[in-house]
Amino acid sequence: MSALRTEEVLDVQHWSDGYFSLKTTRDPGFRFESGHFVMLGLEIDGRPLMRAYSIVSPHWAEHLEFLSVIVENGPLTSRLKDIKPGDKVILSAKPVGTLVMHDLNPGKNLFLFSTGTGLAPFMSIIHDPEAYERFEKIVLVHSVRRVADLAYHDYLVNDLPNHEFLGEEARAKLVYYPTVTREPFRNQGRITTLIDNNKLTDDIGLPPLNPETDRAMICGSMELIKAIEAQLDARGFHISPSHGHPGDYVIERAFVER
Ligand SMILES: Cc1cc2nc3c(=O)[nH]c(=O)nc-3n(C[C@H](O)[C@H](O)[C@H](O)COP(=O)(O)OP(=O)(O)OC[C@H]3O[C@@H](n4cnc5c(N)ncnc54)[C@H](O)[C@@H]3O)c2cc1C
Repeated sequence: MSALRTEEVLDVQHWSDGYFSLKTTRDPGFRFESGHFVMLGLEIDGRPLMRAYSIVSPHWAEHLEFLSVIVENGPLTSRLKDIKPGDKVILSAKPVGTLVMHDLNPGKNLFLFSTGTGLAPFMSIIHDPEAYERFEKIVLVHSVRRVADLAYHDYLVNDLPNHEFLGEEARAKLVYYPTVTREPFRNQGRITTLIDNNKLTDDIGLPPLNPETDRAMICGSMELIKAIEAQLDARGFHISPSHGHPGDYVIERAFVER
């Protein structure tokens, strides 16, 4: 196992009883690519208790940020949920992952499909100038059960469009499409339904998903990944076969292959 680093918690934000974010210091030598994940954890009884976490913050940020679920009785998150500024977390030294733009063929529109904490790697990607260079439109779809679970909703609606460096690109190219499955909201329904009946693309004024023009990244539960994979495959999309070999869409293989 690679060496571990200790970082200090700078800020914690609780979104709902199921999700929170934490911001930490960042060692200047800690490099990652947008979409990567790292092992994050706590020292419990003198031993590290680590779990995989996608990095929310952009690769150019001075700090690191993570979005965490709270699992009742979850070995790590039942403790991590009580973390506060000044506390320490442990990180593995080497971020990795297959949910990266480099493994996508050139295309016009980039669809980022996420549920729950699956939003995390896409927060990093939509803050990467390369995403705006490569694509004409970036469609960020985030599905959760309840409105309060829409982490970063207000930031995405109000702040990112006015961001000092990325605001102009985001206003021109980024479409944020939050959807809620168990409460009334402006967009409702599961991602798979919204893809199946083309409501997602109809709502945002794009033609139905098409491998000629569209690229996709999927992050969420294994069931979601498998279901969207099947939908994309049926429309003629080809998955990136492995890291370093581009395709029309990518997934985090650590989710699927563990
Ligand atoms: C590549 C990869 C990236 C990940 N990125 C994140 C991330 O950015 N944020 C995050 O919170 N978790 C992420 N996870 C899951 C994370 O590693 C832990 O499973 C999670 O933090 C819970 O840890 P735990 O010890 O409390 O419970 P665990 O014993 O690890 O999990 C208990 C159960 O909780 C459920 N569960 C675990 N994680 C989630 C989740 N994120 N959403 C919904 N249900 C879940 C599952 O049913 C699991 O079997 C990722 C996992 C992988 C493989």
